Amino acid sequence: MDILAVIRDRAGEYDCPVCHRSLDGCELSLVKDDDPMFTVQVSCAHCGVTFVVVLHVRHGRRRIRPPAPPQAPPIGADEVLDVRELLRAHTGSLTELLRR
Ligand SMILES: [Zn+2]
Repeated sequence: MDILAVIRDRAGEYDCPVCHRSLDGCELSLVKDDDPMFTVQVSCAHCGVTFVVVLHVRHGRRRIRPPAPPQAPPIGADEVLDVRELLRAHTGSLTELLRR
């Protein structure tokens, strides 16, 4: 399957996440072909922003998933201890604590 031809054909149905104009005429390049998962880099023809979409092609239907937002690093043991110390020393209300 020429996934890029399929996406190019349907790009006009989707809007750029930055300038919100149609993605018709966007530039496409295949980053990863892991059929039925395809990772495709898209460059908006209007504002030039480049982003990556992951498509899962299933039973002839195509879904575009937006890229997952970056995740915060896990809370470390030191941070837990810092909060514990802060709470131990605090004598006022929770609101006062959060305002500091
Ligand atoms: Zn755009």
